[in-house]
Amino acid sequence: MRAQPKASHFINGTYVESPNGKAFQSIYPATTEVIAELHSADEATVDAAIAAAKEAQKVWAATDPITRGRVLLKAAELLRERNQELSELETLDTGKPIQETLVADAASGAECLEYFGGLTSTLTGEYIDLGGSFALTKREPLGVCAGIGAWNYPIQIACWKAAPALACGNALVFKPSEVTPLSALKLAEIMIEAGLPAGVFNVVQGFGDVGARLVSHDDVAKVSLTGSVPTGAKVAALAGEHLKKTTMELGGKSPLIIFDDADIENAVSAAINANFYSTGQVCSNGTRVFVHTTIKEAFLARLAERTGNAVLGDPMDEATSIGPLVSKAQFDKVLGYMKIGADEGARLICGGDRASVASLPEGYFVQPTVFADVKDDMRIATEEIFGPVMSVLDFDDEADVIARANDTAFGLAAGVFTKDIQRAHRVIDQLQAGTCWINTYNLTPVAMPFGGYKKSGMGRENGHAAIEYYSQIKSVYVEMGDVEAAF
Ligand code: NAD
Repeated sequence: MRAQPKASHFINGTYVESPNGKAFQSIYPATTEVIAELHSADEATVDAAIAAAKEAQKVWAATDPITRGRVLLKAAELLRERNQELSELETLDTGKPIQETLVADAASGAECLEYFGGLTSTLTGEYIDLGGSFALTKREPLGVCAGIGAWNYPIQIACWKAAPALACGNALVFKPSEVTPLSALKLAEIMIEAGLPAGVFNVVQGFGDVGARLVSHDDVAKVSLTGSVPTGAKVAALAGEHLKKTTMELGGKSPLIIFDDADIENAVSAAINANFYSTGQVCSNGTRVFVHTTIKEAFLARLAERTGNAVLGDPMDEATSIGPLVSKAQFDKVLGYMKIGADEGARLICGGDRASVASLPEGYFVQPTVFADVKDDMRIATEEIFGPVMSVLDFDDEADVIARANDTAFGLAAGVFTKDIQRAHRVIDQLQAGTCWINTYNLTPVAMPFGGYKKSGMGRENGHAAIEYYSQIKSVYVEMGDVEAAF
């Protein structure tokens, strides 16, 4: 097996196996070849990871911030040096084209480690003058944090959780998605090589039950989940029962609104990026594309023409721009929605079916698909598909399109295309979404906080904002005079 790790888990600085845990496989979705066989962590393995993290966290929190930052910067450097190898692994595990993984996965993880590595010594408190006496605040770590990942950006998600957690002096136990378990183990190796004390970053594999054990464990202070809304509801409920702090990065059905004065070529580029990058498996995708009726047909014509230039093929070939979906389950789900769209009466502009790649007949390939004349209440316009299926909806009026864009339980992201700067800000101000773009889409630089409104999430990753979710403030009142008492 070409991507078999030394063992399933990485605990206290070393690979660990749990032969009694449920066996599962990692599949290369372009060929369905088994690339690795692993075991889910049994309870003793999860407990061992948390115990190692608990011990190591004390040492890490006591390490001076500059040294902590240096370790994160070194890890970023090592990720960059091994970008080719890590990108190939990510492509095997996810099926995403290498042209993407080379620039968007380990590379963005490295940026995140650099960003938070640079912040470690800036995490200071306040001096508060109380007139003679004073108070001070200290920013302290939470302790052991648990990270639970989705399968679409495995190493990026691991870094988006590890970098701020470790920068603040916490330890992390990370559970990757069972669909894409491999790259987090490589990150754990790199962390040790970068000088991170053993036990500060641990990886345990498994399904929802392993995640749930992490969430309910008494020694875990905080849980950060990246996943779907239904999983988020379960994890938040369990975390609530144990009064754990949470960050929830969940799903979306985000609007991309294109006004009649928009640059059509740029708007088409954004709609492509917002629906077909990573074969549509991106949480913040703008899958409801509202296009002003006066430019709709011109927009659709250019979109269909350019979508015809997509290169479906071998994900390891740098010319390939669309790879397979991640799994058979996702393949069946996305094909199901293509049929639902047709049955609901949406107008198929392009795609709409599975795709055949001659050299990879078993692969989970589907055609990039555009439906037009989509109505707000169609299932393709209301449910998260997580595949390359774009819904184009018409609008004429600004207030009306804002109301329709907001008419969803999700609130992850939104985009607006217009040359009118006042309109752009007026519309963005009214959109209920945590991350918004004006005249672009889906760019998520690490300095910009990322997260959802409404059911799309709680808390923020990235930017200074993330620090709030991986640290707690201790206030210290310092009395400089005498103590008064009633008797
Ligand atoms: P998922 O919800 O099925 O699984 C996510 C993770 O949760 C997995 O590791 C899974 O094992 C774990 N899990 C499942 N049940 C659990 C439970 N009861 N307790 C604890 N852990 C549990 O999501 P997925 O299919 O892996 O990923 C796709 C979803 O993730 C989409 O909805 C997508 O929008 C979302 N996503 C969100 C972001 C974001 O930043 N907002 C980023 C990527 C993906």
